[in-house]
Amino acid sequence: MSRPRKQNPGALSDATGADEARDRPPTEVTMGGRQSKSPSRQKAWREAHPRKYLAHLWVEHAKRLGVLRPQPCEVCGATRVDAHHDSYDRPGEVRWLCRRHHTQLHARGR
Ligand SMILES: [Zn+2]
Ligand SMILES: [Zn+2]
Repeated sequence: MSRPRKQNPGALSDATGADEARDRPPTEVTMGGRQSKSPSRQKAWREAHPRKYLAHLWVEHAKRLGVLRPQPCEVCGATRVDAHHDSYDRPGEVRWLCRRHHTQLHARGR
């Protein structure tokens, strides 16, 4: 009559957070608390992806000013969306995708 052993819930949970879309700056990954906020890491990201960074900034400002309104995910209609740029040369041309479909789109090679 021994008690069944509790399974260790921590063992398999490491996959969470792996679906981060690639064009998000590292500073936004703070919700899990795992990423240390490092200014130099942010700077490195900006220098590695200057046009992504500018496009991202453009979207953030435009949203704040009300110029750009987030739309539901164009695939599934989810309302929590990321702005996706087909081309970072045209920061005003964005597509709205939920995290999942955004990640999928990038996984397909864009
Ligand atoms: Zn979606
Ligand atoms: Zn994207």
